[in-house]
Amino acid sequence: MSNHTTLNSPNSRQVETSQAQRTHSKALAALFEPLQVGALTLKNRIIMGSMHTGLEESPQGFERLAVFYEERARHQVGLIITGGIAPNSEGRVVAGACAMITADDAREHQLVTDAVHNAGGRICMQILHAGRYAYSPELVAPSAIQSPITPFEPKALSAGQIEQQLNDFVRCATLAQQAGYDGVEVMGPEGYFINQFLVEHTNKRDDEWGGDFAGRSRFALEVVRRIRKAVGSDFLIIFRISVVDLIGKGSTFAQTSELAVGLEAAGVDILNTGIGWHEARIPTIATSVPRGAFSWATRKLKQVVSCPVVACNRINTPEVAAQIIRDGAADLVSMARPFLADPEFVSKAMAGQSIHINTCIGCNQACLDHTFAGKLTSCLVNPLACHETEILITKAVRPLRVAIVGAGPAGLAAARVAALCGHKVELFEASKEIGGQFNFAKRVPGKEEFYETLRFFEHELARLEVKIHLQKRASIVDLKAFDSVILASGVKPRWPNIKGIDHSMVVGYQEVYQGAEVGKRVAIIGAGGIGFDTAEYLNHAPSDTGTTEVSAYIKEWGIDTSLERPGGLQTQAVKPASAARQIYLLQRKTSKLGAGLGKTTGWIHRLNLHKRGVTMLGGVSYQRIDDDGLHVEVEGQYQCLAVDTVVICSGQESVNELGPELAACGKPFTVIGGAQVATEIDAKRAISEGFKAAIALDSA
Ligand code: NAP
Ligand code: SF4
Repeated sequence: MSNHTTLNSPNSRQVETSQAQRTHSKALAALFEPLQVGALTLKNRIIMGSMHTGLEESPQGFERLAVFYEERARHQVGLIITGGIAPNSEGRVVAGACAMITADDAREHQLVTDAVHNAGGRICMQILHAGRYAYSPELVAPSAIQSPITPFEPKALSAGQIEQQLNDFVRCATLAQQAGYDGVEVMGPEGYFINQFLVEHTNKRDDEWGGDFAGRSRFALEVVRRIRKAVGSDFLIIFRISVVDLIGKGSTFAQTSELAVGLEAAGVDILNTGIGWHEARIPTIATSVPRGAFSWATRKLKQVVSCPVVACNRINTPEVAAQIIRDGAADLVSMARPFLADPEFVSKAMAGQSIHINTCIGCNQACLDHTFAGKLTSCLVNPLACHETEILITKAVRPLRVAIVGAGPAGLAAARVAALCGHKVELFEASKEIGGQFNFAKRVPGKEEFYETLRFFEHELARLEVKIHLQKRASIVDLKAFDSVILASGVKPRWPNIKGIDHSMVVGYQEVYQGAEVGKRVAIIGAGGIGFDTAEYLNHAPSDTGTTEVSAYIKEWGIDTSLERPGGLQTQAVKPASAARQIYLLQRKTSKLGAGLGKTTGWIHRLNLHKRGVTMLGGVSYQRIDDDGLHVEVEGQYQCLAVDTVVICSGQESVNELGPELAACGKPFTVIGGAQVATEIDAKRAISEGFKAAIALDSA
């Protein structure tokens, strides 16, 4: 078990029981009410939803998973659901992914179930059959219809082979029971195997497993009936049901409610909400999706069944979760990524310490993007996630006086972790606020969650008594008094060498966020993450806050909340959002713009800008800037972009003037983040390097 949990926890002296906290705790009380489900009493209404971590397939993976889950259980999660486990070889999401097929498989899982139970928790195993979404040539499906997200055509199953698939589901559930799980969650939505039976989009069968909705829903009902028969009445069966498919030819709510009622009769204890197929082109969990954006869908489900129902998708604070329960939209809430960001989410909320929760910002950069790249899942704001057995924050043997230069994400992370280790930490920041580039990101419509990370650091550094010097550019004289220095002095914008770059219409992106005047016609030079963010920022009028309101999000993405239409999609084209400016986003490369953005979010950024009329040009050669605008050649063709403002977003250069001076006077120091390497510096690397540098102080 890692030590960091104990060190992270606010100690009793610091936990103030002020009136404000008591009021806050009262508002959250609904979350902490126990719930009897079948033979189980869940201690509260909080489920840690299923996430594939990659530990399942790693060396000593189950030992590491046991530590990962145990920590969350110890911090009072009501019920944990594991990552998806395949019931057979062909159902694996990728070749080699974890499956529960034999008694030996079940024995490995006992490490996990024992750890969670010893910590006072409950855990269910998710059964996930990928069907046509499997990234392997073995894949099977109701019909031979290839998905747009895999390169393989699935094999259509015969009726006899469908019987075999059902047997495999049942075997998987009984093995999960043998492994000590409290139940199983059958994964029915998101376009996976069971969902593929349900809709005409993927089920063209004319036998008893297809045809009308009764035929198409038969597989889902049989899975539950047969599992219930095999596992008896005391074993929990959760079914995750697709309430909103977000694809054409998806289910209507009339069909979903028919299925939900049938599933309850077949033996389901809890219905969890599923939103959106993977091939849907509507964001459902990205940071730009408003918090609790789909609780209305769970509320609809709750109205047609009597078993408890679970709300999920973009629930990332105890306050939002409690509101959903209080409003009667759901009986339980499921959060997954928030437990990567902070394993102590529930215990902090229970102690009235929500302000100390490290909030998941919905960026996907270290979790889902890692999963899709075949890397171990972790978390941008908490690099310890899924590395609990390797990265340990322990009390320093030799507490040091440590100076940290720069209060961007790297410096903030270093300051926090160094203080957790018991060092005496002072943080120097040249500007008037902490946060570095996060102060720009948080102002981009759809990225407001970045405020939460800054709130977390602000409260953590205060709790840990880190002395912060704002508007103080540290000099070598200031640093001499310290035992060790961490230089996190960040980056400055790279200024491209273009004729006319000194023209008054040219501004850097930093000045834009600081309020520089920007005209109605804008060219952005550089289409990396910051170019995209700046285009988004400039495309919104000051009064237009993007889709932070659920109603605005629903409207912008054309979701039919009556669910009368198939898949919950409006038939009419979604009216493009009005743009505040005419914007050109430019790069020299001929590749697709935004190719380097996250796999799970890049398409959303591109689509957003496209909908708002941004002209994206690759293969650009910059000729000059003058009073007429920006003169360019695009694929050999000259044109003048008649703009009022040219914004420079052409990457970064390191700021590290103090390094040579510290070296000259023999002071131990470490350089981290953009100050060390500016290329592709992002918050994920910055925070991770901050952690590592602080932990390494003791051994320096
Ligand atoms: P970046 O991703 O490296 O992009 C720099 C852009 O400037 C590129 O489009 C590049 O394209 C162009 N460029 C480079 N040198 C140039 C030159 N001399 N003249 C003209 N154009 C030049 O850097 P960034 O946008 O500053 O982002 C910094 C980091 O933060 C990146 O790692 C990024 O991934 C991350 N970030 C990510 C997100 C997100 O995922 N949403 C948001 C913000 C930041 P050409 O060379 O083709 O012209
Ligand atoms: Fe949340 Fe981003 Fe961490 Fe994933 S990487 S858990 S989305 S903060």
